[in-house]
Amino acid sequence: MANPSTHTGSCLCGAVTYAVAVELEPIVICHCTMCRRQTGHFLATTNAAAADLALSGAEHVRWYQSSEQAERGFCGTCGSVLFWRRRNGSDRVAIAMGGFDLPTGATIGRHIFVAEKGDYYEVEADAPQFEGDD
Ligand SMILES: [Zn+2]
Ligand SMILES: [Zn+2]
Repeated sequence: MANPSTHTGSCLCGAVTYAVAVELEPIVICHCTMCRRQTGHFLATTNAAAADLALSGAEHVRWYQSSEQAERGFCGTCGSVLFWRRRNGSDRVAIAMGGFDLPTGATIGRHIFVAEKGDYYEVEADAPQFEGDD
C-alpha cells in the first residue's frame, strides 16, 4: 500500500504528474491580480520543499517569469497552472491545489493579497486574511 502521506497529482492532460511524500502544508490562497489573471480566479497552493516534490514529465512544464521575484510553472500542452517559485534559488516550491488527487487532507491556512481580489466575490471567513503578503 502506498504511503498514506503521499499525495499525487497531475495536470489536466496528464503529461505532468507529481507526488509529494509529506503531509500537505496549510493552503495559501492568493487573490493578487497576477494570480487572478493567470488562473482565471485565484491561486490556492501548498508549499513544499523542492526535494519533497517528485516530478515526472518535467520537460512539459513551461515557466513564465511573472515578476522580478517569481516564476510560474504550467503545462505547455494543456495550460494547467501547476507551480509557483521564487527566482532567488529558494528550495521551496508552491504547488497548485487544483492538480492534486483527492482526498488531499489539506486545510486552508490563510488568504493573502485580499486587497487585490476580484470585485465579484467575497473571501470566505475560513482563515486569517492579509491585505498583502502577510
Ligand atoms: Zn497538461
Ligand atoms: Zn498572487
